[in-house]
Amino acid sequence: MTQLIKTCAIIGAGPSGLMAAEKLAEKGYRVTVYDRMASPGRKFLLAGRGGLNLTHTDEPDEFMAQYREASEWLWPYIEQFSPDELRDWCDGLGEESFAGSSGRVFPKSFKASPLLRAWLRRLDALGVTFCARHDWHGWDNSGALMFRLADGQEVLIKPDVTLLALGGASWPKLGADGGWTRILEQSGIAVTPLQAANAGVLVEWSDLMKTRFAGAAIKRVVATCGQSQAKGEAIITEKGFEGGVIYSLGPDIRRQIEVDGRALIHLDLRRDLPLHILTERLSKPRGKMSVSTWLHKAAGLAPAAIALFREERATGTKAPFDDPVEMAKLLKNLPIHIHGIAGLERAISTAGGIALSQLDDHLMLINRPGVFVAGEMLDWEAPTGGYLLQACFSTSVAAAAGMIDWLN
Ligand SMILES: Cc1cc2nc3c(=O)[nH]c(=O)nc-3n(C[C@H](O)[C@H](O)[C@H](O)COP(=O)(O)OP(=O)(O)OC[C@H]3O[C@@H](n4cnc5c(N)ncnc54)[C@H](O)[C@@H]3O)c2cc1C
Repeated sequence: MTQLIKTCAIIGAGPSGLMAAEKLAEKGYRVTVYDRMASPGRKFLLAGRGGLNLTHTDEPDEFMAQYREASEWLWPYIEQFSPDELRDWCDGLGEESFAGSSGRVFPKSFKASPLLRAWLRRLDALGVTFCARHDWHGWDNSGALMFRLADGQEVLIKPDVTLLALGGASWPKLGADGGWTRILEQSGIAVTPLQAANAGVLVEWSDLMKTRFAGAAIKRVVATCGQSQAKGEAIITEKGFEGGVIYSLGPDIRRQIEVDGRALIHLDLRRDLPLHILTERLSKPRGKMSVSTWLHKAAGLAPAAIALFREERATGTKAPFDDPVEMAKLLKNLPIHIHGIAGLERAISTAGGIALSQLDDHLMLINRPGVFVAGEMLDWEAPTGGYLLQACFSTSVAAAAGMIDWLN
């Protein structure tokens, strides 16, 4: 008697789709991964250019706090496929991982390409089929998946179970453009609007700032936005700021912009110097030193931080050079006015996505039985630090387990 092997369609060949493919193929299911692009893992490869920060060694509480409102919802999935398990998986593909002094975990090669190559070899050996240039554009009336091929041909597929792993909408030229929101909303599935996350912010700089300091880092800064605080660095760009502290405060900045059309952050440019010591240092006579030399010598500020301090248009404040007390206060709490968030085209990730209320515990769409979802297309967000890929991998392992349950 012939046994019918159940078929699984995975749409999206990013890390979320590929991880689910591996888990399903290991159990003997027939897995086909479809993607609109010519090759898999385009954004994963781009992430590799920054070293491929896979996960983080934070303690669980600290780790989960990065996901803010979604942390409770995500916890069972991260617990099921933890940062340690992700590291073991990476090591198992011959790409040993290591944790840097900040706790960020990377493959030793600092690249995604060797890991992806080894992974694709493993998937091939497991019998996973990859169908490139298959652009999914919805379901027909019988529930079949509809794909458009590069030559305009239409293909219908009716698998036993489906995983949507279509990503967010950042760097759309790499494949994930958020076009799926329209398809799912037409099917009655609620989607929180997609917005740029881990993206730059827009500040009105003077020409001097744009031309001389774009690319310079303001290091060891504490940034505050409302009740939230982040430590790290902010990088001056031609249009404003980017970098770790900006990304961490992203949700707060976005909320302020939604309400007021602008946002205000404050920077402590000398977080390691208490206010009274800074005041004391700035109280010493300046003599014949220029303001910049004096700020460098007395307050230990780098040229970019000095320029920032003097940037009246962005701070809305004239630096009180003749008042050491006020100056020290300003250096420890420098306002920066933000008038927008840079677009999705260059954002590292996407906030928003399929509303969590639309899913059961196994990540199946409640009103589309047999269709599961994983990765960045779900409504969670996190700062950089390895939290993005960890949540993608963990939700895809959980979705694959849910798919196996469903098939059985
Ligand atoms: C510059 C940059 C650096 C990053 N660095 C890091 C990092 O160091 N650490 C970290 O944790 N995260 C990082 N990220 C984020 C991380 O890459 C993403 O969170 C992750 O790739 C999301 O995985 P995913 O599989 O859910 O979606 P994606 O990787 O976006 O994959 C989705 C796939 O779906 C396909 N697709 C979409 N729509 C369709 C359709 N209609 N039909 C067919 N196929 C479709 C796309 O072509 C794509 O291949 C970085 C991102 C960027 C842009």
